[in-house]
Amino acid sequence: MTLTKIKRTAFAGAVNAGEAVAALAPVVRRHSCAAIGCMMAGAFADHSGSLSWWCVYHAGARPMDFARVTSVLNQHHTLRDAIVRLRQLSADEALEPDVVNREFASVRQNLDVNGYRITPKVETWRGWQYSVEIEMGRLVLEAMRRAPV
Ligand SMILES: [Zn+2]
Repeated sequence: MTLTKIKRTAFAGAVNAGEAVAALAPVVRRHSCAAIGCMMAGAFADHSGSLSWWCVYHAGARPMDFARVTSVLNQHHTLRDAIVRLRQLSADEALEPDVVNREFASVRQNLDVNGYRITPKVETWRGWQYSVEIEMGRLVLEAMRRAPV
């Protein structure tokens, strides 16, 4: 299953992109990734009819690699937790800006204390969110390249 197919499935039936995002938002927040042991939020639906949702890392992986992907996500739990927290912050529009800023500072400090050197191109918390997710993707790909095929 390709990522493009998953995205098409997730957005099927929507009249336009805005409607698709609005329809997906509450579902994405409600569902966890279907891979066993994965604590990421599901972001992509599959088209098996099982209503499974997959995080971006499992959605892009071969089923035979699922356990190894989960292992990398759990090994880098500080990064994983930062991704989950930053996504929660971006999804909750009811939060006061000072609460968001405090939480964001806490996420950054936790990454720093645990040795993750994240340098976003844009020094906003969305820039951080993007950079943290990219770093996890790099670590997952690195682990897949190292492992025997
Ligand atoms: Zn996952």
